[in-house]
Amino acid sequence: MLKLQHTFTDILPADPSSENVPRQVLGAGYSYVEPKGMIAPSMIIYSQEMVEELSLDPAYCLSDEFCQIMAGNKLAEGSTPYAMCYGGHQFGNWAGQLGDGRAINLGECVTTLGSHQNLQLKGAGPTPYSRTADGLAVLRSSIREFLCSEAMYHLGVPTTRALALVLTGEEVWRDMMYDGNPSYEKGAVVCRVAPSFVRFGNFEILAARKDESLLKKTADYVLENYYPHLLNGENPYLALFKEVADKTCQMIVDWQRVGFVHGVMNTDNMSILGLTIDYGPYGWIDDYDPNWTPNTTDLPGKRYRFGNQPVITQWNLLKLANALYSIINDESALRDVIEQFRWQYNRMYQEMMKQKLGLYTTDDGDETLISDLEKLLVIHETDMTIFFRELAHVTSYSETDDCFEIIKPAFYIEDISKEYRIAFDTWFEKYLNRLKSERISQAERKVRMNGINPKYVLRNYMAQLAIDQADKGDYTILHELYEMLKQPYEEQVEFLQWYSKRPDWARKKIGCSMLSCSS
Ligand code: AMP
Ligand code: MG
Repeated sequence: MLKLQHTFTDILPADPSSENVPRQVLGAGYSYVEPKGMIAPSMIIYSQEMVEELSLDPAYCLSDEFCQIMAGNKLAEGSTPYAMCYGGHQFGNWAGQLGDGRAINLGECVTTLGSHQNLQLKGAGPTPYSRTADGLAVLRSSIREFLCSEAMYHLGVPTTRALALVLTGEEVWRDMMYDGNPSYEKGAVVCRVAPSFVRFGNFEILAARKDESLLKKTADYVLENYYPHLLNGENPYLALFKEVADKTCQMIVDWQRVGFVHGVMNTDNMSILGLTIDYGPYGWIDDYDPNWTPNTTDLPGKRYRFGNQPVITQWNLLKLANALYSIINDESALRDVIEQFRWQYNRMYQEMMKQKLGLYTTDDGDETLISDLEKLLVIHETDMTIFFRELAHVTSYSETDDCFEIIKPAFYIEDISKEYRIAFDTWFEKYLNRLKSERISQAERKVRMNGINPKYVLRNYMAQLAIDQADKGDYTILHELYEMLKQPYEEQVEFLQWYSKRPDWARKKIGCSMLSCSS
């Protein structure tokens, strides 16, 4: 049985109105709202690891009751569902009130270890924050969220999780590419899990409305429940901001490490716990390209391109700083944190890239070695995942010719120019030299490199294959990918077919290289 409880709604004020119509909600952190209920829900997949972490009975998860709860047709014991009020900056502009337009929080599950995990249904029906939209989600985007959030967890990237994915038995009207060609698609609900779903935008909306009292209450709630170690310091709100910046920095370094592009880094999609949240038109880097964005809605300025994610993070932190300003009251300290972020990110990024290269000692030339490699990787399309994974086969006593052969499987084109080959050989000469000053054994380096350079990531075309098949009612690929992505750093020879470059057919296919915000 699933039992839930509440801290967010126990502490923060509720919207006094229970009318489920789109409107501005003032003076409240959330509105009570019930999931609409679905016609014929059926369980597609659930996360066994999440079931275990939530201390749920595995047998119970096979029951119809569990499926009904995951679809919003039935409420778990103790659940008083609600939608949160938040705002946000979208694509650089203040968008006013947004809120959980299609997410309904069921309550918190307390695990046997005592941690609180919020369960939230995405796509379970409209809320007062739905604006002109329907509060629903389609199967394709729900598969993408389920698979990717679990994959990110197993990659060691801070993220919200997924408990279950349910088919609703209902159809949803969507214009997938925003090009005037809408159609009916299968509806689905994902149950997401996180200690908290509070976003930067929860604070921004209160600051915009000059509701200082609720702003303070919300910050106190976050501090007491998620950052209690900061409560006794001189300025806990400033310390909170600093720690949010630190956690977010770590998250972005991890994104760059595994080649993840979020696609919609609006401030309403930034978690106050530094978790990857809101899996929409995200994508994974196939060929290493800092200019790539999977999100067609973002094509004009490519604001959220791979290489721009750290810059945008700093911009988003600035928005959070503005929102918290009235309770922190220390402009120069806030500026310091924002300014420091850049240095801190650069330091951590360099350290992370060194580890991707298997370098653990210090050398003055490391920064140049890394930036030279980054330049090389973009000249000829080079698969990021395969390049770094194969690099672990290089040893300090390899010949430069051997090195090139080792990483050759990462190139998308066979025809490598002479100049490029020479440039790469020069890089390898420096790299081999550098390896000679390392102290650990080759075997140990390989283990360490393989521990942070994944063998398997959720390439866009892979998710799309799972989606195309699932649309026909077959979930074989979905289950296969889910199993494989649980151990992304292991060799897993049974999944070797997925350790390959993006196939050519996926280069320009919708869903593989092009995604819109429509979901
Ligand atoms: P996103 O781009 O997914 O982060 O969504 C931005 C805002 O739009 C959030 O407030 C969402 O809750 C809301 N939203 C997105 N899709 C829908 C939908 N189908 N129905 C209601 N609200 C939605
Ligand atoms: Mg969002």
